[in-house]
Amino acid sequence: MKFVYDFTEGNKDLKDLLGGKGANLAEMTNLGLPVPPGFTITTEACKVYLDSGDAPAALRDEVTAHLVALEEKMGKKLGQADDPLLVSVRSGAKFSMPGMMDTVLNIGLSDKSVQGLAKQAGDDRFAWDSYRRLIQMFGKTVLGVDGDLFEEALEAAKAAKKVVVDTELEAADLKKLVTKFKKIVKTEAGRDFPQDPREQMDLAIHAVFDSWNTDRAKLYRRQERIPGDLGTAVNVCSMVFGNLGPDSGTGVAFTRDPASGHQGVYGDYLQNAQGEDVVAGIRNTVPLAELESIDKKSYDQLMQIMETLENHYKDLCDIEFTIERGQLWMLQTRVGKRTAGAAFRIATQLVDQGLIDEAEALQRVTGAQLAQLMFPRFDDEAKVAQVGRGIAASPGAAVGKAVFDSYTAVKWSRSGEKVILVRRETNPDDLDGMIAAEGILTSRGGKTSHAAVVARGMGKTCVCGAEELEVDTKRRRMTVPGGHVVEEGDLISIDGSSGKVYLGEVPVVPSPVVEYFEGRMHAGAQDADELVEAVHRIMAFADRKRRLRVRANADNAEDALRARRFGAQGIGLCRTEHMFLGDRRELVERLILADTEAEREDSLKALLPLQKQDFVELFSAMDGLPVTVRLLDPPLHEFLPDITELSVRVALAESRQEPHENELRLLQAVHRLHEQNPMLGLRGVRLGLVIPGLFTMQVRAIAEAAAERKNAKGDPRAEIMIPLVGTVQELEIVREEADEVIAEVEAATGTSLKLSIGTMIELPRAALTAGQIAEAAEFFSFGTNDLTQTVWGFSRDDVEASFFTAYLEKGIFGVSPFETIDKDGVGSLVKLAAEAGRATRPDLKLGVCGEHGGDPESVHFFHEVGLDYVSCSPFRIPVARLEAGRAAS
Ligand code: ADP
Ligand code: MG
Ligand code: MG
Repeated sequence: MKFVYDFTEGNKDLKDLLGGKGANLAEMTNLGLPVPPGFTITTEACKVYLDSGDAPAALRDEVTAHLVALEEKMGKKLGQADDPLLVSVRSGAKFSMPGMMDTVLNIGLSDKSVQGLAKQAGDDRFAWDSYRRLIQMFGKTVLGVDGDLFEEALEAAKAAKKVVVDTELEAADLKKLVTKFKKIVKTEAGRDFPQDPREQMDLAIHAVFDSWNTDRAKLYRRQERIPGDLGTAVNVCSMVFGNLGPDSGTGVAFTRDPASGHQGVYGDYLQNAQGEDVVAGIRNTVPLAELESIDKKSYDQLMQIMETLENHYKDLCDIEFTIERGQLWMLQTRVGKRTAGAAFRIATQLVDQGLIDEAEALQRVTGAQLAQLMFPRFDDEAKVAQVGRGIAASPGAAVGKAVFDSYTAVKWSRSGEKVILVRRETNPDDLDGMIAAEGILTSRGGKTSHAAVVARGMGKTCVCGAEELEVDTKRRRMTVPGGHVVEEGDLISIDGSSGKVYLGEVPVVPSPVVEYFEGRMHAGAQDADELVEAVHRIMAFADRKRRLRVRANADNAEDALRARRFGAQGIGLCRTEHMFLGDRRELVERLILADTEAEREDSLKALLPLQKQDFVELFSAMDGLPVTVRLLDPPLHEFLPDITELSVRVALAESRQEPHENELRLLQAVHRLHEQNPMLGLRGVRLGLVIPGLFTMQVRAIAEAAAERKNAKGDPRAEIMIPLVGTVQELEIVREEADEVIAEVEAATGTSLKLSIGTMIELPRAALTAGQIAEAAEFFSFGTNDLTQTVWGFSRDDVEASFFTAYLEKGIFGVSPFETIDKDGVGSLVKLAAEAGRATRPDLKLGVCGEHGGDPESVHFFHEVGLDYVSCSPFRIPVARLEAGRAAS
């Protein structure tokens, strides 16, 4: 096996072997761009090193051979005393990863060669500056010395000289600093800074290998689901110097604006600087455009190269470059990060430029980016003061009065106030307050903190870990930088997409993308901006490509109409329990309390026309499109008053000797229906089997509504769905009764309704016996919320707030299985059931309802296992459409 590749030997597709940085350095080299020569040690070498604790035997010789070749090319030897070749040792895994080792520059300098470098460059200052940087970086990243010690020494040197920036230090100062740095190394690392250049290089290479397994890197990989065995590559690259005086410098650039996608000159440049100086912000950079007047020749060449890179990568690239005494060198490139809006714009711009096709354009955007563009946003934030910035934990824009405890949040929101719950960090006791608040702000904790996880689960705006804010919950106040105090009741605004916190009220505007989906703004019309135009076009690409249909979860005509505007091709889940609330609750109560057959029938009779009217409205809103109606699912006690409240009422009435017969009956019913674990109790099809007439009343309402629509020349397409089936026998019984009712209605109304009857697959047993169940079902709809609960044995209502944070922190899963389908567990049951169902009934229609239907990664999975449609809440439909298109291209 070959462990080392010269930059001339690799290419951009070898990221697995050469890492991202190495593969792209090779690609640029082969494009004929000016890249300082060098070579890449493969991830394979790293794997051997990590497995066996030692570098592979062949590696040393291969590195030697490549080093010799490099030395010949450069005409000087590594660390040579009179004219040293210097190199950088740079880590570079397939995916860039925080927590991995930093780059070490200037390897090859020693007490001797620093003199040679000074002579060759004719610049003492430069040589000593390079040497002190080497000891600093090497000490910190290879020998594990606390980096602050070097920083403090550097600050002290500047202070002693009464200067502000490092370029004002002269050769003599830097020489002294080198002595100081070497002392720090000796005391802290217990060894001398190595003077042998090859030893420096080998130690740096091994340190890069080792950095694959730091705790931070491991945690990051678990959370991002990056396999732990990929290993990192190591790049050895001959040094070029941006710190050789004013005709040298270093910079970063984008081939187009990463915020708008517009072509132009975007980047920063810093004269007389090396490496990270630009991003480290140690001195003020100048906009890249100014390079034109500093060094026209290099500037023109850079523009030329950026164009070459764009045409070659067919995408926005970001680059690092260095100019050494008027000579331009390329040090890195990669396809660059961009904002969500720019991703859509750039994808369509590239299509227009003829660089990519529609299918490729779909790969350049994501559903997550689209979702981000659909949140309302702040308008004119400039008018109010930004007072802090935390982690953008859950997107959206929220404005409200600051409250510092859950109790107040609930109390104030009940009286109609909008509140932002501000806490140091949240815990399960804060749940009520979090639900009541418009948004949540914490001063501690990261993306996996309790606040962040729970807020994302609820779709609530959240900024967490805003550390500059001093939250004092006891005194109900927070102090912002500068000393201003926010008291309980003061208005604040938080932006969950940027993490910014503002004092006062920032006006919130709806997203232009939502305005467009709602039909209030038309792409191509005058008021449509570029973004809407781009989204419009990408959605059209997706709709043309996708195989999966997208339906909505909607319970009433209003939601259904909105879903239709958002592109829904039907309703995948209409929950009938929502039709039993409000003023109808009383009727349901009577049904539950009925002592006699007659009483029960009476209340069912009263419910029938109401139910029917709901369906008439729904079917007409969705005329011509399928509507799946789920028969009653939740446990009955959900329709009865709260047990404690009721007990109090009864006790009060008793003590006052008031009549309370009804309350008493209710209370007895509540006791009778009380279950230890309602999620696994009397619900779903079980209700239909034990409460005579309940399901048939609902079926009759559906059938009569459909018949009415038919006779009014409508096109109703109702599908009746039976929830929580575990065995085909349950379904058969319910089905037989339903068929009878439908036949009756058809005969009475003179219509042929063609209602299909199917079931939800949401219990493991249903999935495992799907082949049998399909005999009685014309369609399956996977209820992945309940299926996840029952497969994992998690109660969703409890676990997200109690131990999911710990699970996420420990990397047991990177994302909640209620957010993204657990492919290995829940997903394999879906796959198995789909296959078994289709084996029994080849035209079985398969869909999924439950929030996974709108989750990007899950949509791809459902596409792969061959489902016919996904169903999700109206707001997520565009995301599902887009992801279904991406999955198919
Ligand atoms: P990162 O992955 O953190 O960007 P890099 O390996 O790109 O790390 O290096 C850090 C900095 O050092 C960058 O600014 C890079 O351009 C610069 N650099 C790396 N190698 C060299 C080199 N051979 N000559 C000059 N500068 C270099
Ligand atoms: Mg870099
Ligand atoms: Mg369910």
